[in-house]
Amino acid sequence: MSVVIAMAVLAVGALGAARILIATASPLRGSHDVALRIDRLLPQTQCGRCLYAGCRPYAEAIARGEARINQCPPGGAATIRRLARLLGVEPLALNPRHGTEVPASVVVIDEETCIGCTKCIQACPVDAILGAARQMHTVIAADCTGCELCIPPCPVDCIAVVPAPAATHAWRWPTPAEASG
Ligand code: SF4
Ligand code: SF4
Ligand code: SF4
Repeated sequence: MSVVIAMAVLAVGALGAARILIATASPLRGSHDVALRIDRLLPQTQCGRCLYAGCRPYAEAIARGEARINQCPPGGAATIRRLARLLGVEPLALNPRHGTEVPASVVVIDEETCIGCTKCIQACPVDAILGAARQMHTVIAADCTGCELCIPPCPVDCIAVVPAPAATHAWRWPTPAEASG
C-alpha cells in the first residue's frame, strides 16, 4: 500500500513540475492568449490600415502567424517595438504599403456645411459622432480615434482632421523596459 501511495505522490509531483515548466518556458500559451496580449499593445484606432477589420482581427492574424508586426501606422515604431519584445522577434520598419506614421489626430465637422445625411455616423466604428437625420452632426473628441473612416462617405466634404487634444485618457506611459531603452 505504501508503494502505491509513494507512486501517487511522485505522479502528482511530476504533473506539478511539468505545469511549472510549461508556464515558465512558454509565457505565450495558446493563440487566444497571444492575440489578447497583442491586441492590448495596439492603439485601438480601428482604422483598418493594417488591412484587417480592426485591431483585434489584426492581433489574431499576427498570433496565427499570418500577418507581420509592421502593418499598423497609428502605432508606428513604438508599437512595433512592443510587439517585437512580446513575441521575441526582431523589430521591423513600418511597411509603407500600410501608410506612414503620423501624430495622433481626431476629426471635426464643419457644422455650418453639414447636411445631416448620417453617412459619417454609419461609418464610425466607435460611435464618436452625435447627430440625427437632417440635423447638424458633431464629433465627440474624447471618443474619436482619428481613424478617418467617416471622411470618404461625407458628400459635402465637411469633415477635417486636426491634431488630437492632449488628454490623460489618450496618454500611454512607457513600460519600465521601454523607459530604460
Ligand atoms: S492599423 Fe493599427 S490601429 Fe488601425 S485597425 Fe490595424 S491595428 Fe488597429
Ligand atoms: S469620428 Fe471619424 S475619425 Fe473619429 S473615430 Fe469616428 S469614424 Fe473615426
Ligand atoms: S457625412 Fe458629412 S454631411 Fe453627412 S452627416 Fe456626416 S458630416 Fe454631415
